Amino acid sequence: MKKGTIFLVGAGPGDPDLLTLRAARLIQHASLIVHDGLVDSAILAMAPPDARLISVAKQRSRHTLPQEGINALLVQEALAGRDVVRLKGGDPFIFGRGGEEMEAAQAAGVKVEIVPGITAANGAAAASGIALTHRENASIVSFVAGQCKGLSDQNWAGLAGHGRTLVIYMGVKTAPQIAEKLMADGLAPDMPIAVVENACRANMRVLRGPLAALPDLVEREAVQSPALIVIGHVTARADAALAQLAQETSA
Ligand code: SAH
Repeated sequence: MKKGTIFLVGAGPGDPDLLTLRAARLIQHASLIVHDGLVDSAILAMAPPDARLISVAKQRSRHTLPQEGINALLVQEALAGRDVVRLKGGDPFIFGRGGEEMEAAQAAGVKVEIVPGITAANGAAAASGIALTHRENASIVSFVAGQCKGLSDQNWAGLAGHGRTLVIYMGVKTAPQIAEKLMADGLAPDMPIAVVENACRANMRVLRGPLAALPDLVEREAVQSPALIVIGHVTARADAALAQLAQETSA
C-alpha cells in the first residue's frame, strides 16, 4: 500500500492572512489535520467541511497527548496511506518539536515535507512595531525558551544587553526567574523590555517597562500565554515611535 506523507506545517502566529500560500493550500485540501492548541480557529475553519480534525493541544502542566503519542499518531496515519497535515503554531522548527516529529517519520520510512511559518517573534515584532534589529540598537537577535529543562542551568550570558535583542518564548510563568537570571548576568535593571501577548490576534496587548519591573508587570496585568518577552533597547524605540505617531494622529 502507498504510504501517506506527513506535512509539518507552520500556521503562523494567529491571523490567517499570515499563512504561506503553501500552508493555505494544504489546509484547504486536507482530509486529516492534527493541530496544536495555538492554531487559530479561523485557520482551522479553512479546512474542508469533511476533514478530520484532531487536537493534540498541550498545556504546560497537563499533556493531553505526550509527544511520543503524537509522533505515533502521525506515523500510524501515514502508514495507513493517509496524508497528514500536522499544523503547528508559528514555525514548526522553532520550539515546536517539529524536529522530533520529522525524525519519527523518517525512522518509520514516511515522507515528510516541512512548510515554514511566521514564528511568534517575527509576528509580534511586526504587530507591535518593535524592529528586532536596528542599526542604532541591535545587530544580534536570539530566541530562547523561558520554560525548558533546567532554566537555571541555561547559559544566557551575552544574549541580552547592549546591541542585542533577546526574545523569550514560553516565559510568562517563569518571568520572575527570568528577570533575576538576566540581572544576575549583569543586565541593567532599567533595560527596556516589552511583553507581547496574543500577537497578531484581535486581543493583542503590548506592555512595556524596565527589566526589574517585569515580574510585577506580568502579575499586575495578568499576562496569559501565549506571550513573548522582548528584552533590549529596540523595545523603547518602538515606544517612542508609537508615541510620536499618536501625537501626529491627534494633532
Ligand atoms: N512554534 C511556535 C512556538 C511554540 S512555543 C512559533 O514558532 O511561534 C509556544 C510559545 O510561543 C508561547 O508560549 C509564546 O511564548 C509564543 N507564541 C506563540 N504564538 C504567540 C502569539 N500569537 N503571541 C505571542 N506569543 C506567541
